[in-house]
Amino acid sequence: MDEKAAASELMQMVNGYQVSQAICVAATLGVADHLANGPRTSDDLAAATSSHPQSFYRLLRALASVGVLHEGDARQFSLTSLGAGLRSDAEHSVGAWARMVGRAYYRDAWSELLHSVRTGENAFAHVHGTGVWQYRIEHPEESLIFDRAMSSFVPAVAAAVLAAYDFSRFEILMDVGGGQGALLAAILARNPSQRGILFDQPQVVEGAGPVLQAASVAERCQVIGGDFFRAVPEGADAHVLKWILHDWDDERSIAILKSCRRAIRPGGRLVVLDAVLAPPNEGARAKFADLNMLAVPGGQERTEDEFAGLFAASGFRLTNIVDAGPRISLIEGKPI
Ligand code: SAH
Repeated sequence: MDEKAAASELMQMVNGYQVSQAICVAATLGVADHLANGPRTSDDLAAATSSHPQSFYRLLRALASVGVLHEGDARQFSLTSLGAGLRSDAEHSVGAWARMVGRAYYRDAWSELLHSVRTGENAFAHVHGTGVWQYRIEHPEESLIFDRAMSSFVPAVAAAVLAAYDFSRFEILMDVGGGQGALLAAILARNPSQRGILFDQPQVVEGAGPVLQAASVAERCQVIGGDFFRAVPEGADAHVLKWILHDWDDERSIAILKSCRRAIRPGGRLVVLDAVLAPPNEGARAKFADLNMLAVPGGQERTEDEFAGLFAASGFRLTNIVDAGPRISLIEGKPI
């Protein structure tokens, strides 16, 4: 690549936050859902989304310039295959995630990435004076937007996870930090004789009822609120932890795993679902997720060796790693 082309590519990367925020605003306004039934004019959409017509048009034409929308004659816009990914009914929908990422409180943490890089401290706490989980407790609207974003990944992730790993051999499966239960519901629905325990913070599991009922598994699933640093419920022979350990540093992660170790049945299995970092120069998604963990919750993504170290420090032996997609591997451990 010559110098001019390299500079142009670099400039695009540097300004990537502008593209990101424009997509997030469109997602917040529900533009993709409004276009689900076909093209509409910018003015029509502006009215439907209570937006300022000329500014809204400027948003749409910018998004069309990067292929998220298509601009036809007379300010008519339609969805491209990229933009269709923002529809709330898309199987791999990115819309709920975009609505979360665009929130000011979230961006503010990323604005202080420099602080994390210089000090090793969590940018979110530096900006907001409290950790992200406490912040969300104090801002229920943000908690809701976050929970929806996490749940929106579940259909695609559950399909990949169920294809990659056999959960049918477990009698009682517990999802530790299982959010509103969407993953657990998908696994239980697949295995009709299995029982489940959904465990998360009390204010999060409060919203689990409809999710479990929709999958017709509510009567086989106990819902328990609590704090995984103190204890997790006993009785399960498999403990699933999806996108949990990456939220925490090693010390806190070991504390969570020790809670699992105390509660897991002998002969049970720990199944951690997280990214496994790729060798140098590969795996951008997990490596940027790792920066996201540094800036927002104050955690990290890990290598295979790092997972083995966490397991060993908390009474588990890493027995198997199964790759189930870009940011999902199943890292299995046995109690020792
Ligand atoms: N496993 C879910 C949610 C991951 S987000 C999924 O992959 O979609 C991390 C989860 O950890 C959140 O639901 C959050 O409420 C939960 N969590 C954070 N601190 C916790 C604590 N101290 N005890 C129990 N759950 C906690």
